[in-house]
Amino acid sequence: MNFHDSEKLSAMLQQMGYLETENKADAELIIINTCCVRENAELKVYGNLGELKRMKQKNPDLLLAICGCMMQQKHVVEKIQKSYPFVDLVFGTHNLHRFPELLNNAYQMEGLLVEVWDHEEDIQEDLPVQRKFSTKAFVNIMYGCNNFCSYCIVPYTRGRERSREPEKILEEVKELAQAGTLEVTLLGQNVNSYGKTLEETMDFADLLNQINEIPGLQRIRFMTSHPADFSEKLMNAMANLQKVSPHIHLPVQAGSNRILKDMNRKYSREQYLEKISLLKSKISGIAISTDIIVGFPGETEEDFQDTLDLIRQVEYDSAFTFLYSIRTGTPAANMEKQVPERDKMNRFNRLVDLINEIGLKKNLDLIGTTVPVLVEGVSKNNPNRLTGRTDTHKLVNFDGQESHIGTIVPVTITEAKTFSLLGTLHK
Ligand code: SAH
Ligand code: SF4
Repeated sequence: MNFHDSEKLSAMLQQMGYLETENKADAELIIINTCCVRENAELKVYGNLGELKRMKQKNPDLLLAICGCMMQQKHVVEKIQKSYPFVDLVFGTHNLHRFPELLNNAYQMEGLLVEVWDHEEDIQEDLPVQRKFSTKAFVNIMYGCNNFCSYCIVPYTRGRERSREPEKILEEVKELAQAGTLEVTLLGQNVNSYGKTLEETMDFADLLNQINEIPGLQRIRFMTSHPADFSEKLMNAMANLQKVSPHIHLPVQAGSNRILKDMNRKYSREQYLEKISLLKSKISGIAISTDIIVGFPGETEEDFQDTLDLIRQVEYDSAFTFLYSIRTGTPAANMEKQVPERDKMNRFNRLVDLINEIGLKKNLDLIGTTVPVLVEGVSKNNPNRLTGRTDTHKLVNFDGQESHIGTIVPVTITEAKTFSLLGTLHK
């Protein structure tokens, strides 16, 4: 979501005549687009501000702006006003579209200009986007979240859930497909509840049906799905619609019913596992990824073992793993029995080992198979190799020609690593 917001900021800057530079020292304007989901990312912002202060002292004409969901929190803005007054402009997620005007105002005035809106407005359509990739693109289908998981700051910073009009989404995807984009990722905090705020009766499976019809488009992905709203209708759409990738990112967060309840996730371990087995029976070879938090308040070794056990049962292809991070203003921040850092780290390491072990095993199973790879470009680590993704979202490196970039080619897998595959072009 933040990455895609940055693509919008880049496009607004381009329209204003700015050029992007790789070298910070050359910049006349630096914007930090922040994320507040975990504390680590916030600490990094303060670290960066220390460095930017020195740059600003050397070059007083440098303009510094900070935006993103971290700015939607009052205490953060107060801290910036107090401790980092050399910043020129602060704005939030709800008024991103006002950036050009705010930037103009910041240039006209002395000191720090702050404009953060408490509440979301109607969805802003027709913002320009400067896409960072030519073969794949992100498309927002909804904004905000109503779930209020007890650890999560997102509903407070991104506001209430609202769905984008299907006509607007279809228009954007059609334009992308006409311009040569092969893959879209539909974005929302919980895409499974798409349509609830629309006047017409339409759900996410209906939307997928319509997007699947768009000529030229080859692959449809989406994130993120909330397990509680993951319906059989959606599973059937995934199974039947040829362009929808056989991959689901279905964050489980924890494997213990007690912890799931305290997290306010609205599903049990059994319900989650049932959905996974139904999905596996409908789509053979489906790849499954997840998000997991360790060290949620009150988590015991036994609860953690439940998480490890669930991971073994599902056999995830990959997972994003997080140490629980206290977010001021969320219910979990005030829960008793916060888990000591040492225990959190210990569990985290065991969690990552298990995830990697299973991920490698699943990748090894692919050796000898031929898979369709959307070729994204030249490999970062080896300029003689191309890199791309399978329809199950696995990274594949293989020897090929530059003319393959931007096409889907069959690749036979020859070697497997934990996070990537190696292959040769299938002749
Ligand atoms: N809407 C998505 C996720 C948004 S945040 C969903 O519900 O799946 C992405 C991930 O960050 C979450 O899935 C969760 O695993 C993690 N996360 C959110 N708040 C966190 C916190 N306070 N501490 C640690 N991880 C957190
Ligand atoms: Fe946060 Fe839960 Fe909403 Fe995801 S569904 S954004 S984890 S509150």
